[in-house]
Amino acid sequence: MKASSLITRRLLLGRFGGGVGAFGVMTWIGSAAAQKSTPGPAKPQGQPATPGLRVPIVMLDPGHGGRDPGAIGVSGTHEKRITLSAALQLRGLLEAKGQYKVELTRTRDTFVSLDERVERARAKGASLFVSLHADALPDHSVRGASVYTLSGNASDALSAALAKRENSADRFLGSTWRDMPPDVARILGSLVRRETRVGSHRIARVMVGHLDRDLPMLPNPARHASFAVLKAADIPSVLVEMGFMSNAKDEAALRKPEHRKMVALAMKRAIDDYFAGLTRSA
Ligand code: ZN
Repeated sequence: MKASSLITRRLLLGRFGGGVGAFGVMTWIGSAAAQKSTPGPAKPQGQPATPGLRVPIVMLDPGHGGRDPGAIGVSGTHEKRITLSAALQLRGLLEAKGQYKVELTRTRDTFVSLDERVERARAKGASLFVSLHADALPDHSVRGASVYTLSGNASDALSAALAKRENSADRFLGSTWRDMPPDVARILGSLVRRETRVGSHRIARVMVGHLDRDLPMLPNPARHASFAVLKAADIPSVLVEMGFMSNAKDEAALRKPEHRKMVALAMKRAIDDYFAGLTRSA
């Protein structure tokens, strides 16, 4: 149990410190297990820590792009434009005080596959993954924001239908842990997945709390579904539906920069709360 909590602690600290992700910690442990007699200080041997980098890396994921417009709103607005604008606004807010380093899965109107989005987050050593969307539903009366975490079992038919639409863009491919010794991979994979799940639920909870202060929300706004883009096993991940392009009021609001700024501010406060909670528990 002690070893388990130590690993968990290292994992969180490594993530929070930036640069050394769970994968790096796992690689170190795998290496240590293979070379038990090797003395000396433990150093992560996965991704190298970046000297001087002390801020967490947040990966923002503007949904869709390029040939994939996402949902097309009732007045013709493309979801891909709304998600990119909101992500750029959120990046500005997050970086304003130097508390975070922010990366985007795309910064222009380009197509990026779902698995590539996850891989980019992992390659950057992201501590948190936030995917932004504003999808469409057949029922145009449905409006409001909602927040999704990953689950094989969707919380309801609406959530399942949304995930199915998103995942049809492409499919998620494999894992990057396949080179580890099987026993080590199994044990550590289980620990990392558990921590990731806990983190994903924590960011979803605070995200709903902050969005709910300023925005109309979908009933039961904390939802779960099998979104492929949330499948990073080692990065807490959440998908925010900022509203529905299929609803005239939501679409009209999301077209306005001041409304998107309000949404971005709520998300920024949620991200602040999330990392403040990690610091307290570390
Ligand atoms: Zn979408």
